[in-house]
Formats: sequence, structure tokens, C-alpha cells
Amino acid sequence: MGWAVVWLLAAGAWARVPEGDLLQRVQPGPEGKIDLLTVFAHPDDETFYEAGTLLKLTADPRVRLHILCLTLGDRDAAKDKLGISAERLGRIRVQELEAAAAVLGAEEVIELGYHDQGLAAADPATLVGQVREVMERTGAEVVITHDPYGITGHPDHLAASRAAREAFGQSAGQRLYYVTLPPLRYSCNRLFSTFPGEAERARPTLRVQIRGEKRLKKAALYAHSSQKHFSFWNGLAMKEDLLYNYEYFTLAESK
Ligand SMILES: [Zn+2]
Repeated sequence: MGWAVVWLLAAGAWARVPEGDLLQRVQPGPEGKIDLLTVFAHPDDETFYEAGTLLKLTADPRVRLHILCLTLGDRDAAKDKLGISAERLGRIRVQELEAAAAVLGAEEVIELGYHDQGLAAADPATLVGQVREVMERTGAEVVITHDPYGITGHPDHLAASRAAREAFGQSAGQRLYYVTLPPLRYSCNRLFSTFPGEAERARPTLRVQIRGEKRLKKAALYAHSSQKHFSFWNGLAMKEDLLYNYEYFTLAESK
């Protein structure tokens, strides 16, 4: 077991993930624009592991970024730390998402308003229909979502990833990407994953260098103030996340 751990970590650390461009060979829409849609479960999921890349993409005048967030993030631990109701935390987190979206240069934020930790219980067909409707309205050529294991295994992330995958299959979208982790982190996650099959599908296939975008990424991350200051693990994750000079993705589907 010990050697397996060492081998997996080493293999992960030295794995060569090529640098890539998420828009490579993507055909723009009729107005010459490329619509990019992110589909995530909670406010802050759009920023953690991909904000640098989104900032790079929105610097391209052809790109319009649409941020779809499925829940209000209203049942987070921050609620107890702050001593406020779930409803109030939901309002705060939607405002935080709007602030982060402004930093990222997004055109719009679309909020479906599900409750935090409620996506897994939502009717899957309804959820897929709602996500597909947003894909059709925005004309998204490129979609980014959680990997099938959702990095942390959070049931909302899993449900969001499933819905995005299914809706993408029914849409005119050209590329579907999963946000994933740097190889070393990915190997650790895979090792301790209770969903090894799903984690396997989140193996990174391309990386994007984000050195020039880190300051703005920090501003976007810190816009999620309730998570930085009142959720210990998220605060720690934000600090760790800001150490990385690359962000990692899996090309899940190309058509
Ligand atoms: Zn989340």
C-alpha cells in the first residue's frame, strides 16, 4: 500500500499534461462570437480551479462568458458561523457570485435557485431541461462543468456534472470540458476517491498557464468573502489554489 501511494504520487507529479487552448478549432457562432457557458452547482465553483482560464478567455473580444449557477449555496457552514438564516446566506452568496462574475468579465449570471445540497434530490429530467434551455438561449459553443466526481465528491457537483453532460449531448455545443486538478492533487484524489471509476474520467488532458491572471483570480476568489472568512476549509483551499500557475481541464466531449 505504501509503495502504491508513493508510485501514484510520483506518477501524478511527473505526468506531462500538454498546454492547450480551450477554444482550439471551435467555430464561432453567426455573429463571430464564441459563447462560453459554465455550469456549476454553487457560487464559487466557477472561480476556484478555472478563474485564471476564464479571465484569459474573456480577454478575447470574441468570447462572451455566461455563468450558470444551479444552487444558492445557502446551506453552507458559513451560515452557522455568521449566525444567519439559510435564506440570508443565499442572498449574500448570489451577490458574491455577481461580484466574482464582474471580475471575470462575464456577460451574465444565471441562477436556477435550487437549495444547496438539494440538487441530488431534484428531478433529473427537469434539471437537464433547464440546463439545456440555457445552452440553447446562449448558443454555447463551449461548456465547462464539474468532472463526474466533482473534485470533492459533493453530491451537488455530481448532479450538476451529470445534468450538464446530458444537456450538452442534446445541444449544438462543440466542446465540453471538466474542470480538474493538477496531476499531483489529481493522484491524491484518485487514491482516496470513493468513486475511483468517476475519478479516472477526470484525468487532466490540458493545462492553461495563468501567471498573468493570478491577481484578478485572487480578486474573484475573495469576492466570495463568506467562504474565505467563515468556512475554514474553503479559506484554506483558496490559499492553496492561489499557489498554482496552471489550471487543468479534461476534454470530455468534442463534436
Ligand atoms: Zn461547490
